[in-house]
Amino acid sequence: MRSVPSLLSMIDEPKAPAPTVMPWDYIRMRREAAGLSIEQAAEPFWHRKEHRADVERNFQRIETVGFRVKRLWDMSRSFRLNLTVYRQLCDTPPDMHPRLCLACGWDEWSAQLDAEGFDCTWSDADPQICTRCEQLRRPLFEQRLPNFHPTHTPHGGHQIAA
Ligand SMILES: [Zn+2]
Repeated sequence: MRSVPSLLSMIDEPKAPAPTVMPWDYIRMRREAAGLSIEQAAEPFWHRKEHRADVERNFQRIETVGFRVKRLWDMSRSFRLNLTVYRQLCDTPPDMHPRLCLACGWDEWSAQLDAEGFDCTWSDADPQICTRCEQLRRPLFEQRLPNFHPTHTPHGGHQIAA
């Protein structure tokens, strides 16, 4: 009788599943990787003061857990985000999501330079993250509870009375 490898030896050791990046996580990761607060990310999108609150509210909404936008606007004025990736995160089950850096949300179809000026790639030391995040020691994103709503956290903290 031919010896066959035991079925168990052919199955990978069970690992803790990698956290799933959801659309709202993706937007937040890309914004934070660009070093922007919600207010800063929103700023290029309003020109009249009376629109500011609305625009900022929209930026908060898209990071709210459970929120998916049918047609996301072009974010490139404030930070870089791959709209195709966003769509896939919205429309496909987690096991079909594209591979993303779990610290900054980078995808391999998007050009990004690492901290040394080379093209970003997957880290050898930790394939869950990109080389830029490895160099910057950026922590992995944290999954949030369904009732999470991004808060106003302006840099500097003080609100200036107009
Ligand atoms: Zn990264």
